[in-house]
Amino acid sequence: DGRLPRSHQRGPKKRRNQRISHQRETNNAKPPTWAKQTNNVNEVNKIAIFPGSFDPFTIGHYDIVMRGLDIFDKVVIGIGINCTKQESFPLHQRLNAIQQYFANEPRVQVHPYDCLTVDFAAQHKAQFILRGVRSAQDFEYERSMAEANKQLSGLETILLYTRPEYAHISSTLVRDLHSHGKDISVYLP
Ligand code: ADP
Repeated sequence: DGRLPRSHQRGPKKRRNQRISHQRETNNAKPPTWAKQTNNVNEVNKIAIFPGSFDPFTIGHYDIVMRGLDIFDKVVIGIGINCTKQESFPLHQRLNAIQQYFANEPRVQVHPYDCLTVDFAAQHKAQFILRGVRSAQDFEYERSMAEANKQLSGLETILLYTRPEYAHISSTLVRDLHSHGKDISVYLP
């Protein structure tokens, strides 16, 4: 009837299939970016802990965690219980507040810890420590901590610069304002 054999009619589809198989090969080599956006915590591979005192947890901290989620599959916030530091907000209050801020984000977990930071990272199978930097002073402190943690366990520390508008925000400032009866809600997530 003049029509081409089926195999010829499907020429373009064959090319499409070839393209798809090439894409699969490429995908095997490098996971597609959307793979990072999975909500299934069992599929995660890059895990960071975000350790701190979070006394209290501020919008500066919140911003670091949210930006960390663009890099890592999961961020585990570790509230360090430091016996030598006088805490202002009780632990359970800090834990509840942080849990609420991330209630809709399954890739964020919050846990208190009183062991070494590297041991907390190992408990959560984290390969990275996430920290924020506001100033040269922060940087020097973070550098010595990063070197010690790298030496202790091979963990890499990833530093994110603060947003300029949050650079002046510290838990100390928020605590001071709170202790003088000032409204601190603008500093909280
Ligand atoms: P720590 O007691 O370990 O210094 P903090 O709770 O003060 O813990 O801070 C935890 C991390 O968050 C630190 O890396 C700190 O530099 C960072 N951080 C604190 N405030 C801000 C901010 N406003 N912007 C960005 N990073 C911040």
